[in-house]
Amino acid sequence: MHPDVAPGAQVSARVAAVLYALGGAISMLVVLAPHPEQLFVEGFVAVALVAELVAAVLWLAERRVSKRVLNVVVAGGSVLITADIAMAGEHLGAAMPDNEMLYVWVALYAAYFFTARQAALHVALASALYGGALWFFTPHEVLAARWLETTSTLGISVMLIVLLKRRVRTLLTALADAARTDPLTGLKNRRGFEESIEVEIERARRGGHPLTLLLADLDHFKRVNDQLGHGAGDAALARIGRLLRDGKRQIDYAARTGGEEFALILPETNEQQAYVLAERLRTAVHDAFAGELVPLTFSFGIAGFPHHGRTSDELLRSADRGLYAAKELGRNRAVIYSSEIASVSLPPGATARGVHLDTLLSLAEAIDMRDAGTADHSQTVGRHCALMARELGLPRDRVERVRLAGVLHDIGKIGISDAILRKPGPLDGAEWDEMRRHPEIGARILGAAEFDDIREWVLAHHERPDGRGYPLGLRGDEIPLEAKILAVGDAYEAMTADRVYRAAIGVDAARDELRRGAGSQFDALVVEAFLAVLDRASAAIGATS
Ligand code: GH3
Ligand code: MG
Ligand code: MG
Repeated sequence: MHPDVAPGAQVSARVAAVLYALGGAISMLVVLAPHPEQLFVEGFVAVALVAELVAAVLWLAERRVSKRVLNVVVAGGSVLITADIAMAGEHLGAAMPDNEMLYVWVALYAAYFFTARQAALHVALASALYGGALWFFTPHEVLAARWLETTSTLGISVMLIVLLKRRVRTLLTALADAARTDPLTGLKNRRGFEESIEVEIERARRGGHPLTLLLADLDHFKRVNDQLGHGAGDAALARIGRLLRDGKRQIDYAARTGGEEFALILPETNEQQAYVLAERLRTAVHDAFAGELVPLTFSFGIAGFPHHGRTSDELLRSADRGLYAAKELGRNRAVIYSSEIASVSLPPGATARGVHLDTLLSLAEAIDMRDAGTADHSQTVGRHCALMARELGLPRDRVERVRLAGVLHDIGKIGISDAILRKPGPLDGAEWDEMRRHPEIGARILGAAEFDDIREWVLAHHERPDGRGYPLGLRGDEIPLEAKILAVGDAYEAMTADRVYRAAIGVDAARDELRRGAGSQFDALVVEAFLAVLDRASAAIGATS
């Protein structure tokens, strides 16, 4: 950014008017004061009148005068000064004060209000006019010395003003940058962030590009201040700033928007790519502070333009909701905004530490709504799983844990974007990669100790006995029985319910699928148990109808 140091045309016109009025007054004074008789009085009066007239016009028309016109006016000033010098009568022996001092006004004015090039041209013009006046109206023996003295004075005046202007411009730029920079981290501050996001939203809108906003808030940062002091807190913030700067891409903007709150603007980036970046930053911060006295972690909220918000305010609100959900779900995580995360709110009386079960249950329901358009996919899976667990002879309390696991098994989908969950067609490679993360995200959400058992099952609910599952590719007995139950319950419910990407295939076909997958995709014993349950259920329905 190059702030313009020179004032605009209106102020320039006003100053020119004042200089002309003063110049005219001086011309008049020369006549009124005692003067040598060789002086061409009428000429001085004429110059004074012309100058006052120009002053009046400039003053009255200041709004309509352009810099181009002012250049002509200033050149006219040099002509009038030269006329005064000529009419002073020096060649007739009059001893006059040095009128050429008035050229300095021209030089200073041009250097301040015009470009350096224009100022140089004005000095050149004044020097040429002055040279001519000297040649015709003064004794030749003093010509060279007087001309050189005046011309060099004009040149130096212009040079000093131009240098001064450059210096001021540099300082103004630095000042403008400082007003947009956070001194502690060197990142943009809130004001810089607000300006950048407006620019980037406009660019995304015009270019039809995606744009994603990441809001980040340090988790339990107060503890750092409380336990280590404010200085250590500041040092940690500065270090976080460096991590963000190093971890972001060249095209991204990083800002510290509040005490321990940060924002990243990611141009030409969709939410999935943003999620990957957020995870990278989250991991970087987690790892960097893992050995510290008070470990620090980051929570992220992610919102994409245009579908999560078309203005900066809307985007901020959406990203903030994502951030809030990330905090509620246990911190140290990134959450992409979706309308469903509105359901994530801390129930009264719940502790801020860990995650309250009610929150998770309403979240599971919300994810169902998003994923399947109904609020009971997870409940149905939970029911199927409980039936299998009982059929397999698990103790009663374990059966209930399996039911809860069935309800919560897809909770990690909160980290998967709408575009993927609702895609009406097959997913491509990258989309599958993202989709495959949901067991791990789910396991992280279930981070509290009270979910130690369920966490492990959710993590493994897409593993397969033949080792071709994810995320770890576990085989056979390496997979907990409960995870195998989740796999069957999830698959059966998915096959018998309509989805955006395909219609339900019907109960019989679903049973055939389970049978076909027994031993490879599904655990054979679990499938057998489930089919037995289903058989008994349909027999019971048959008997009552
Ligand atoms: P969480 O966000 O995980 O809910 O917990 P938190 O402890 O980070 O919560 P909160 O946002 O309420 O507290 C922010 C704290 O950050 C308050 C203040 O002690 C600290 N803080 C804010 N700005 C600065 C700063 O410039 N320097 C230092 N040292 N600390 C700051
Ligand atoms: Mg905060
Ligand atoms: Mg915080």
